[in-house]
Amino acid sequence: MMIHRPQTAGEAVQLRYGMADTAVYLAGGTDNLRLGGAAEGKELIDINALGFDTIEETDGKIYIGARVTLQQLIESDLIPAFIKEAAKFCASFAKRNSATVGGNLALRRDDSYLAAAFCAADAKLLALSAKGEKEEAVYDYLKGQCKCLLRFVVIDKDRSGWVKRFGNTSASHATLIAAESNGIYAMTVKGSGLVCGNTPDLYETMEFCDDLAGSAEYKRYLAKTVFSLRR
Ligand SMILES: Cc1cc2nc3c(=O)[nH]c(=O)nc-3n(C[C@H](O)[C@H](O)[C@H](O)COP(=O)(O)OP(=O)(O)OC[C@H]3O[C@@H](n4cnc5c(N)ncnc54)[C@H](O)[C@@H]3O)c2cc1C
Repeated sequence: MMIHRPQTAGEAVQLRYGMADTAVYLAGGTDNLRLGGAAEGKELIDINALGFDTIEETDGKIYIGARVTLQQLIESDLIPAFIKEAAKFCASFAKRNSATVGGNLALRRDDSYLAAAFCAADAKLLALSAKGEKEEAVYDYLKGQCKCLLRFVVIDKDRSGWVKRFGNTSASHATLIAAESNGIYAMTVKGSGLVCGNTPDLYETMEFCDDLAGSAEYKRYLAKTVFSLRR
């Protein structure tokens, strides 16, 4: 393992784009430094001295720094209730206290605590790529593969919605997480990935598989009914 300590966001991005796919940004480290050697052989680009760790309101928008932790989300007065609820899906306080918003999105997991809630919230990302600053919908970022450095997630102030999780236990990988806000529906299903759209029948476009989180039939049933259950 090799650790790099860039002084600016631009330097961090140049490092990442100039390296092999084994290079990653080091934020909270809950995934990068997990027991079992996930960091083995990696080049870690430490972004912890580069800022974007605050939650601020400007012109009706909430700017959430990518280095804000899940626990900071929960404790902030500016964050909508359903986004806080999604952050609480991370059952461990110790992990919530280290794991960052940017790290959670960048992992593009099919059991992501935050992905469905941010997609339903129509959240945008402010990021830095090798070509410069860019703004992108969270959903488009999650469907892509880019190596850009996430700096802020931007949502509307006072956005309302709901989010719901199904899993074997609170500490298991989620079988399904669904969210709805202002007529936008989003859902992650273990083994099937992320879908988002303007109708609740998203399950029709998905394929389901049997795994430890549940049978394909069970997942299909949850995906079909979850938006009629609401909260
Ligand atoms: C036992 C265990 C169980 C877990 N279960 C779940 C789970 O059920 N659901 C879930 O969603 N997550 C889970 N995680 C993964 C993880 O803890 C969280 O998703 C967390 O939010 C990652 O954030 P971090 O800041 O710790 O990221 P790090 O570990 O520092 O980095 C993780 C990845 O994110 C990228 N990254 C970090 N910050 C940025 C940025 N600003 N811009 C671009 N890329 C960035 C890095 O390149 C790296 O690839 C689990 C982890 C462990 C160890």
